[in-house]
Amino acid sequence: MRTLFASILFLLVSAAACAAGGAPAMAKVQPVKLAPHSYYIQGLAGEASTVNQGFMSNAGFVVTSDGVVVFDTLGSPPLGAEMIRQIRKITSQPIRRVIISHYHADHIYGLQAFKALGAEIWAHRRGQEYLASDEAQSRLAQRRKTLYPWVDKTTRLVPADKWLDGETGFEMGGLHFELVYVGPAHSSEDMVMLVKEDGVLYSGDMVFKGRVPYVGNADSKAWLEALGRLLELKPKIMVPGHGKASADATADLVFTRDYLIYLRDTMGKAVANMEPFEEAYAKTSWKEFEHLPAFQAANRVNAYNTYLLMESEGLQTK
Ligand SMILES: [Zn+2]
Repeated sequence: MRTLFASILFLLVSAAACAAGGAPAMAKVQPVKLAPHSYYIQGLAGEASTVNQGFMSNAGFVVTSDGVVVFDTLGSPPLGAEMIRQIRKITSQPIRRVIISHYHADHIYGLQAFKALGAEIWAHRRGQEYLASDEAQSRLAQRRKTLYPWVDKTTRLVPADKWLDGETGFEMGGLHFELVYVGPAHSSEDMVMLVKEDGVLYSGDMVFKGRVPYVGNADSKAWLEALGRLLELKPKIMVPGHGKASADATADLVFTRDYLIYLRDTMGKAVANMEPFEEAYAKTSWKEFEHLPAFQAANRVNAYNTYLLMESEGLQTK
């Protein structure tokens, strides 16, 4: 009986959330046109929470004369559905393809809404490692609690229809798309998308703006090297994984780069001096970053993982 009651309550809450349209986070799923064919949707700052309903990452789409290409799908199935509704306001072209930058929850939990439309999902083959990992399952379990009812037991991890290797290009409706594998960096499977005619580069989480980056177990050394590769693509406009798009890609990279360098520098010195992490963390000045969204949630873990990474890098060079 309790289960039935919970189900009815959930349906009512879901229906209200869908019908409202004016629910706070949903209302902000607002496409911004960046170039003749390219759009993006900017998520809110900070960590996923019930306040932002998991709407805290960016996504994009490109309208061609022969269908729509989507880049990332936001952080819940309702957000994915809302993104589709917004695309429908702009074009009646079929949504043919979804490119996934990487398999982190906030970029892929909207996938099932696109899959239901028959869109073909492409991602780098190393995304399979994440899907098979305990981390993917524990993250899903966590989000089913913290983002309920937007993420619930019907939310599932959707694999790609096509797993890519290295660099891939394709053409749709006269537009040329370049998919470049730049991982392992922020994740094992980082892939960026350049829309050549528009000069728009969708960078995924290679670039964070306006919040403390999520470093997790990233390879920050390779990540720093890969940031240079983004500039080689000479984007006119760059869409980061989090934060505002802009026409100054070089400046956009600076924040992510400087944060990673600072972590490596401070934690690297602590490791070299055989200083315990707790002491090193406590005496490091974080004043450049502590006012930013996601600092409380991400910074300590980022520093700790960097500390471990610097230890292992040290061992490798001995
Ligand atoms: Zn990510």
